[in-house]
Amino acid sequence: MSKPTVFLDRDGVINVDHGYVHTVSEFEFIPGVLEAAAKLTAAGYRLVVVTNQSGIARGYYTEGQFQRLTEWMVEQFKQAGACIEHVYHCPHHPEGQVASFAVNCDCRKPAPGMFYQAKKDLNIELSEAMMVGDKGDDMRAAQNAGLKLCFLVKSGKPVSTESVELADYVVESLAELPALLNKLFISK
Ligand SMILES: [Zn+2]
Repeated sequence: MSKPTVFLDRDGVINVDHGYVHTVSEFEFIPGVLEAAAKLTAAGYRLVVVTNQSGIARGYYTEGQFQRLTEWMVEQFKQAGACIEHVYHCPHHPEGQVASFAVNCDCRKPAPGMFYQAKKDLNIELSEAMMVGDKGDDMRAAQNAGLKLCFLVKSGKPVSTESVELADYVVESLAELPALLNKLFISK
């Protein structure tokens, strides 16, 4: 039987958030992330990425560029022994320059749309699932989707008091998550 799903934000959780990252050369894995993901996969957790990509609506990069980077990223995880089941992204932003994406959508976090889609596509029990993010909107999205727990990662940056208050646990980076989940789920 598989363990709960761990939803991961991308920028600031998986890779260093340089702002609108859309090429392999800009994509810098945060230290320990690939190893942590491999441990979670080995322990039976399901991994799904949910990421806001307003750079698409803003015209900074295209869906095609995003998808090419995503394929490369998923392959890096695979080579490290980690299985990313799917990557959901929100290409929208109400103030975007690309008309078709300049809308108020139900998928941009803190809205729960990407989680609902994952539930439908992958048969995920959201009330057992967890979210790992670096922003208040990630924590809010997790709560809006009815997830069990949300983890805030600092990833070497200052975090807002508000996002700390919204989180169930605050960790330095994803690298700490496997040990923390071990503790939480074994002590149950
Ligand atoms: Zn959206």
